[in-house]
Amino acid sequence: MARIVQKFGGTSVGDLARIRNVALRVKAEIDRGNEVAVVVSAMSGVTNQLVDYCTQMAPLHDAREYDAIVATGEQVTSGLLAIALQELGVQARSWAGWQIPIITDDAHSRARIAEIRGAEIIRRMAEGQVAVVAGFQGLGPDNRVTTLGRGGSDTTAVALAAALKADRCDIYTDVDGVYTTDPRIVKSARKLDKITYEEMLEMASLGAKVLQTRSVEMAMKHRVRVQVLSSFSDAPGTLVCDEDEIVEKELVSGIAYSRDEAKVTLVAVSDQPGIAAGIFSPLADANINVDMIVQNTSHDGTTDLTFTCGRADLERALKVVKDNMKIPFKTINTDKSVVKVSVIGVGMRSHAGVAQTMFKALADKGINIQVISTSEIKVSVLIAEEYTELALRALHTAYGLDAS
Ligand code: ADP
Ligand code: ASP
Ligand code: MG
Repeated sequence: MARIVQKFGGTSVGDLARIRNVALRVKAEIDRGNEVAVVVSAMSGVTNQLVDYCTQMAPLHDAREYDAIVATGEQVTSGLLAIALQELGVQARSWAGWQIPIITDDAHSRARIAEIRGAEIIRRMAEGQVAVVAGFQGLGPDNRVTTLGRGGSDTTAVALAAALKADRCDIYTDVDGVYTTDPRIVKSARKLDKITYEEMLEMASLGAKVLQTRSVEMAMKHRVRVQVLSSFSDAPGTLVCDEDEIVEKELVSGIAYSRDEAKVTLVAVSDQPGIAAGIFSPLADANINVDMIVQNTSHDGTTDLTFTCGRADLERALKVVKDNMKIPFKTINTDKSVVKVSVIGVGMRSHAGVAQTMFKALADKGINIQVISTSEIKVSVLIAEEYTELALRALHTAYGLDAS
């Protein structure tokens, strides 16, 4: 007997027929003699609709009320799945975040899970009852519902698996695993049998939506065995695991992209001590995440300084820079039509030339690189957004990742 947490994403619970299909998958695990807790997302499109209602009511709205509204999508699907399971003769009960409870901090709309008290669920699982938990939501210290940021049901599932000491956390989605790159863009993308926690963490944080970044952090910390698989097929999925479980390590395991980027260039900043501090301290104080930074060499006593931040933060970032900049500069240029493309692989630690292959593949396609950043296991470049698909395909081929 194993204890399993199964998570079903928005497409997997997209209508009543799909929820019935999910119920059959849950029943199959129960019939194998396993203990099961299930985490569900809202039906696909529902969270977007709810977010849109909030924005239409007021572009800048109270985050507590946003949470009260957007958390409702998951409550509907948890109740519906519980009914579908009962119809199959499986004992099931739905759980909202506050009922377990899933305790979070007070960062409404992007809360972090602090603790899950799973004792009651464990007791009921032992009696054969399936807990159907509403993903994405928790209970804040102000006794109000919180949500965990978009894609947060993945994090609910992994955190619940850790709290219940589950043997496995199965994330069912609309693709049958983690691919070398987004299979919706690159048709020759290959499914990976296994990927290390570290690589998955980079892939997620660099834009691969398949798992929320925090869910991978949580899995890595608590050593939860996460498997990504499809709710629409029985194909084997991808296991996220420790490096030593992977025998054949690829130089590059995956390529990710993020359209959530904006580029800001300060033109002709006077080149003197304190420039970086003068620009980036106020941005940090305003909670704006700066990602890539480049500064040109100085000519005529001035330099151009470029940085990137989240597209949604661009207007705020500009205001902060303009209001706080004490060092003279000529103008500020911005560009929202950029994409960050990253190649990721633990093999890079011990091999030279990975970045070179990237630069050459892009150059061969006439794609200009605007900003570069690297870390131990990844190289990222910022390019014009219109070249996203071309760049992904060229890199996929250049690193020998194409499915044969
Ligand atoms: P869910 O609603 O099940 O949580 P998501 O839409 O959040 O599903 O995540 C699944 C999607 O992630 C896929 O449809 C795919 O387009 C996208 N994706 C991006 N990069 C990858 C990748 N490397 N491997 C698999 N899927 C990816
Ligand atoms: N329903 C939420 C979202 O769309 C959470 C999730 O699906 O993981 O972001
Ligand atoms: Mg998701």
